[in-house]
Amino acid sequence: MNNYDIIIVGAGPAGLTAAIYAARASKKVLVLEAKSYGGQIIEAVDIENYPAAMHINGFDLATNMYNQALELKAEIKFEKVIEINEALEVTTTKDKYQAGAIILATGSDHRKLDLPNEDELLGKGVSYCATCDGNFYRGKDVAVVGGGNSALEEALYLSNICNQVYLIHRRDSFRGDQKTLEQIKAKNNVNIILNSNVTKINGTDRLESIELNNNQVLNVSGLFVAVGHIPENENFAKIINLNDNGYIIGNEDCLTNVPGIFVAGDCRTKELRQLVTATSDGAIAAVKAIKYISK
Ligand code: NAP
Repeated sequence: MNNYDIIIVGAGPAGLTAAIYAARASKKVLVLEAKSYGGQIIEAVDIENYPAAMHINGFDLATNMYNQALELKAEIKFEKVIEINEALEVTTTKDKYQAGAIILATGSDHRKLDLPNEDELLGKGVSYCATCDGNFYRGKDVAVVGGGNSALEEALYLSNICNQVYLIHRRDSFRGDQKTLEQIKAKNNVNIILNSNVTKINGTDRLESIELNNNQVLNVSGLFVAVGHIPENENFAKIINLNDNGYIIGNEDCLTNVPGIFVAGDCRTKELRQLVTATSDGAIAAVKAIKYISK
């Protein structure tokens, strides 16, 4: 069995910060990540609310964190964790590891609209990331669904490269930042459609149009779904307490119900899911884990 002092599940801002803190304390650290490093933040076009970073692109910020963790000698492997147990063993799709302490920092994944055709047309018109895919829709008409910061940022980003952007939200007001909303309103190619839901995604090989609950049909080439995120904690549910929405029940101390297993970032119950609270959790969880293994 491969032994590590601290195994961190997830290489987003919370996990990478935990790795930085644990590695700086001379612990043998392994970060396990199922997808790519950076988590949700790699999709942020321009981060303006992370102290001292001023304007920074999410991918660049995540890459800095990743390189910082590596420079401090944390090990990072791209393997999906399929099970953890109370003996602090971690099983991935490739290997098995023994940890002195575990930090769960799995973040969350895109919420879907759960409409027919949504999965079939993924990459053929349907997208969950404007910064990743927006360029494919240069000069075309697109729609963005959602009312949070992601939807607002995506709409603003797409307005600079697409012909027409429809921003569709199910309520009469947005929960995203007012400043971004003002920037969107100043654009002459963004059409804000409130109190509306997308009810149909039409197309066979490619997206052709979408329909709204008022029967309005929008002929768009791209549909960017930005309706929030859901946690991915099912693999831990056997031993870790989750709330009804699937978030790991934890508090500001980043403790879980299992001794030696800590939680950090968006995957835990909390009020404010932001980059700054994720990195803060990462630091706290690492310090708690270090104390735990020093006992
Ligand atoms: P979010 O804040 O949870 O917003 C999700 C939006 O989608 C809400 O407006 C919600 O509507 C809507 N929605 C949910 N399910 C829906 C459905 N089935 N159909 C239609 N609409 C649906 O998610 P987010 O925008 O991804 O942001 C997540 C977190 O990251 C937030 O804390 C945000 O501030 C942060 N963030 C920060 C930055 C930045 O700082 N630059 C950038 C992006 C995100 P209701 O309003 O009706 O609930």
